Amino acid sequence: MTERPAFGFETLQIHAGARPDPATGARQTPIYQTTGYVFRDADHAAALFNLQEVGFIYSRLTNPTIAVLQERIATLEGGVGAVCCSSGHAAQLMALFPLMAPGRNVVASTRLYGGTLTQFSQTIKRFGWSATFVDFDDTDAVKAAINDDTRAVFCESISNPGGYVTDIPVIAEIADAAGVPLIVDNTTATPYLCNPIAQGASLVVHSTTKYLTGNGTVTGGCVVDSGKFNWSASDKFPSLSQPEPAYHGLKFHETFGELAFTFHGIAIGLRDLGMTMNPQAAHYTLMGIETLSLRMQRHVENAQEVAQWLEADPRVEYVTYAGLESSPYNARAKALYPKGAGALFTFAVKGGYDACVKLVDSLELFSHVANLGDTRSLIIHSASTTHRQLSEEQQIAAGAAPNVVRLSIGIETAADLIADLDLALTTATA
Ligand SMILES: *Cc1c(COP(=O)(O)O)cnc(C)c1O
Repeated sequence: MTERPAFGFETLQIHAGARPDPATGARQTPIYQTTGYVFRDADHAAALFNLQEVGFIYSRLTNPTIAVLQERIATLEGGVGAVCCSSGHAAQLMALFPLMAPGRNVVASTRLYGGTLTQFSQTIKRFGWSATFVDFDDTDAVKAAINDDTRAVFCESISNPGGYVTDIPVIAEIADAAGVPLIVDNTTATPYLCNPIAQGASLVVHSTTKYLTGNGTVTGGCVVDSGKFNWSASDKFPSLSQPEPAYHGLKFHETFGELAFTFHGIAIGLRDLGMTMNPQAAHYTLMGIETLSLRMQRHVENAQEVAQWLEADPRVEYVTYAGLESSPYNARAKALYPKGAGALFTFAVKGGYDACVKLVDSLELFSHVANLGDTRSLIIHSASTTHRQLSEEQQIAAGAAPNVVRLSIGIETAADLIADLDLALTTATA
């Protein structure tokens, strides 16, 4: 052999971005618990502040531990660069910020994490931005929703809470034809099950709080750039293509090429919005990612087993898992998510809202928690919690109807999870 073949996912999840610490040789990435970095001299400081030289200035912008995490996630997602931040919701704002302006809109799927629906339908209005929600299975509706003020299209790969799978290539083509980037929230699939960039997405966002960290310890977020979107093809993205007044007239796209979005995220986004990840969180997330493939394989195996058992149970009305043959999304899941349809799905309990509340209270192994992507199995009744702010119509559109509970299947012994559900269903539907 004269040339090493490209590394596989399992190798990259452990090694990408990391190298022995240049100061000490430490093999594991140290936690650089520092806010500032000593400049070599005044010229070095000036070059860093002018973005003429890449280096560490201040931990609101850059930190060596976080830099390793950024490189690792960018590599696993097949992007050119990534910017980590304090939470998944921060990542969504960081992704939209360079694209949007007062009067501009994002066209978003109706099937989103409840908090994202609230962020997009309520909070971003304060910036003068708006969101138009459409069913992303209705491609004509997606096309019709895009207008001259649209600056991004947004969806989740495997959508929360129902576990529906999005046809990313089809949506990417629509966004492309309209000259706007497709942003995919890949939190619930992770780069192990889905690579949105390979399927045509321009940007990927993550809540690293979930599967990437994997054990419910820290919050974090990440924006990954494919490097493929041409920000200068139209006058729609002046923050990237035109002189940026918040950076003494620097033109990000002209200066940084395919890294424009990443540099903008650090030099403007983190600098001025300040939604910075801390190095401790980056450490926990780096630890988690080392075992991502192993955990996801087990998450998916367990989810398939639990979903099949639930579907056959007479106390259950329906199960939404796309890995089930009965799911209308099964063919799409097999084609686009061949390693599995994730570990997040909902099921409807006969007995409605009251039975759901009783079920949640009767489970012992499943924790009633507003989180997902943990090693532990989790359950939530979305209608009375995460999707509570929505009308019943919006709840149903989001897949969080009052008679539905959401499961995030962990990596425990599958038979134990089934026994826990069995006993609790008996109590809930008595
Ligand atoms: C949790 C979650 C978010 C928000 O992430 P935080 O880290 O909680 O801010 C966004 N999208 C999806 C799909 C999520 O599951």
